[in-house]
Amino acid sequence: MTAKREPTFRESVDLMFNRAVALMELPPGLEEKIRVCNATYTVRFGVRLRGQIHTFTGYRSVHSEHMEPVKGGIRYAMGVNQDEVEALAALMTYKCALVEAPFGGSKGGLRIDPREWEEHELEMITRRFAYELIKRDLIHPAQNVPAPDMGTGEREMAWIADQYKRMATTDINYRACVTGKPIHGGGIQGRTEATGRGVQYALREFFRHPEDVAAAGMSGKLDGKRVVVQGLGNVGYHAAKFLSEEDGCKITAIIERDGALIDESGLDVEAVRNWIARHGGVDGFPDGTYIADGSKALENACEILIPAAMEGVINLENADRIKAPLIIEAANGPVTAGADDILRQKGTVIIPDMYANAGGVTVSYFEWVKNLSHIRFGRIGRRQEEARHQLIVDELERLDAHLGENWQMSPHFKQQYLRGAGELELVRSGLDDTMRSAYQAMREVWHNRQDVTDLRTAAYLVSIAKVAASYRAMGL
Ligand code: NAD
Repeated sequence: MTAKREPTFRESVDLMFNRAVALMELPPGLEEKIRVCNATYTVRFGVRLRGQIHTFTGYRSVHSEHMEPVKGGIRYAMGVNQDEVEALAALMTYKCALVEAPFGGSKGGLRIDPREWEEHELEMITRRFAYELIKRDLIHPAQNVPAPDMGTGEREMAWIADQYKRMATTDINYRACVTGKPIHGGGIQGRTEATGRGVQYALREFFRHPEDVAAAGMSGKLDGKRVVVQGLGNVGYHAAKFLSEEDGCKITAIIERDGALIDESGLDVEAVRNWIARHGGVDGFPDGTYIADGSKALENACEILIPAAMEGVINLENADRIKAPLIIEAANGPVTAGADDILRQKGTVIIPDMYANAGGVTVSYFEWVKNLSHIRFGRIGRRQEEARHQLIVDELERLDAHLGENWQMSPHFKQQYLRGAGELELVRSGLDDTMRSAYQAMREVWHNRQDVTDLRTAAYLVSIAKVAASYRAMGL
């Protein structure tokens, strides 16, 4: 018997898209226009390092320009290839539409293992890659705005912003050419943790709907739920940290490149993260049990599985052994199309990537707006808000004096109420609102349409309808 062939990442995304689009009535030809990737630019460039020229291969793919700028992260990994960036760019189009971030979809990647290079070498490589993209307007505040992804973070984004500034010396909006920058380099509070925070908000919203929780065969709240996390990088670390510290979840397994740690009583996420920073992996961590074949822990019994590392990790080979009744796709494309079929038939509920990890692009949107408006959120209104609250508190205190001692305001209330919202509070509020609204849009389709039995199809239906509406508005 020949094994069923696993589709490529891009094919997988297209299969999922096709399943949804079959349930829609789009004008002839529009389905194909939305699905295909508009353009992918491949660049090979040399950088002189360690006494010789090293040639690197990079990509920037633009999936859809129905809205501009287009948006999507830049990934540094050895597995980067054209198929992968095109799949990721397509997911960006659908993601931005779903959460109403006014961007088309794009993605970039550089085939490199960042751990093999010193910081100053990475800076030279990043600046050269950025130069190649900037001179073709593939990094530009009005046309194409990258952000961090696997293997990159605020450090790389700061280098890219600075490179753009050197090349576009008169562009007053230069800072808006890239998001995910450090806070002192034009960034915004709350961006670093935004994707993980978004995963937390998504789960909170899911557990606000007992009907949805029951669909996954569970009951109750997030508190006490067992969580398995794969990838303790930016997204996985923040999601696991917030869920364990703020929502009472137990992180019963952490899977990293070199193996997994398992502890049914719950792992200390911060301690594991520090251990990885010092030792390069999870092996040797004093608590819990270590297993070398980390991906086996994806199959551990738990309530919530969070793949937060890379694509294709839940596939035809292991899908039927996955026990978690709820999977939240913090990574992009962690479940292949074939695995998705198997899991759907088993009744597993999957909160799809295009929604689950949209917190990053949502806060990137806020950062871009901040950069274009040249002012920090909250700067104008905060003290005025505090003054109005002070008026109410003063008035209540005046009434207190008449009503006697039983009518005292708690000091905690006063302290909280008198504090006007700063940038971080506003970012969190905007992110929370986005994650709640997008979830509600998806679940409405999931519950109201007989022909839709899963959240992924619902997410595609909502987002494709929005992209199609943009095309219609353009007269196409
Ligand atoms: P990251 O580089 O910060 O972290 C990735 C982590 O996964 C690292 O700790 C790495 O060691 C681990 N890892 C890699 N391969 C693994 C494997 N085979 N098994 C177990 N662990 C492995 O990357 P990130 O930014 O956290 O991105 C992770 C995923 O989230 C990617 O799919 C990315 O596209 C997606 N994503 C990221 C963002 C963002 O804002 N950074 C936004 C949306 C989606």
